[in-house]
Amino acid sequence: MSGLAHFLDGLRCSACGLLNALWLDTVRGLVECQGCGQSALLVPEIGECE
Ligand SMILES: [Zn+2]
Repeated sequence: MSGLAHFLDGLRCSACGLLNALWLDTVRGLVECQGCGQSALLVPEIGECE
């Protein structure tokens, strides 16, 4: 499982609520949790200003 992976700081898993356990798989373009193994697509919610 060697490849491009970046840990995401300050993000919390929406499934198990574990903090700093998410890492970004740049190859597949998804985020996976190291705690529960839950994977989800990375949804850009940044810049949501209303
Ligand atoms: Zn999790």
